Amino acid sequence: MLRHRFSRPWLTGLRAWRRISAPSPALRILLLHDVPEHHFDALDRLLDTVKRGGGFVTPAEAEAWLAGDAPARGNAPCLLTFDDGFASNHRAADVVLSRHGVKALFFVCPGLVDLDGEAQRQGIAAHISDGRLGAADLPREARLMSWQEIAALNDRGHAIGAHSMTHRRLSRLQGDELSREVLGCNEVLTARLGAPTPWFAYPFGSIDSISADALAVIASAYKFCRSGVRGPNTGATDRRVLRADQIDLAAPEAYLSLIVEGGLDWRYATPRRRLDALI
Ligand SMILES: [Zn+2]
Repeated sequence: MLRHRFSRPWLTGLRAWRRISAPSPALRILLLHDVPEHHFDALDRLLDTVKRGGGFVTPAEAEAWLAGDAPARGNAPCLLTFDDGFASNHRAADVVLSRHGVKALFFVCPGLVDLDGEAQRQGIAAHISDGRLGAADLPREARLMSWQEIAALNDRGHAIGAHSMTHRRLSRLQGDELSREVLGCNEVLTARLGAPTPWFAYPFGSIDSISADALAVIASAYKFCRSGVRGPNTGATDRRVLRADQIDLAAPEAYLSLIVEGGLDWRYATPRRRLDALI
């Protein structure tokens, strides 16, 4: 891909610009989804790359950072997040994250966790893949983490966030349906894990997948709402519309470095403005 081919010179130019422009301190949030085992090496290299740069913060440190309590750092620290709650996330935490001592934030959908076997595969196909895949097209091993696996991550110092009840596109919902997806989700997480989560990530993450109504309901129950719109989180970023960088582990390393260092931010100025206009 052309953008992959140009990522190395682009990265060199970006770093030179950063040295002279002194950007504001920023927290970057990385967003991953299902991480099958053949991507574990790429995840391992990504964690190394981030540690050589701004390093990782834990979810608790990110909360403090976003509340303005943490000291400003030269390089942007990163928070690692995973959406959808695939069982591969639990395995990646065990095998890869533990080796690096990285604590991450896992966004789950309680209504889909509660489904078993074939019903869950149908749920993943219909809601998480948004109908692009049928249950038969999913990899054979595709399943979501069980409540035991989610609780185990929580016990090991990772954090669990809400990703709506059943992964519906919130911009299409109103009233009771919207409340159930947003508020019902935290009720179940509280009952399962013993405490409410301050974190919400809305499904699909795009600017067209969220509305002013949905953000108002989210803000009534959660302290932080993470989008999937790329960009830095600075002191000026509202906590209801946090930015995140989606990571495709199949991309070349220079391209991933470019994403982590904010090289694609300029392309997302319009969605960021539209997101801010919703609050
Ligand atoms: Zn999702």
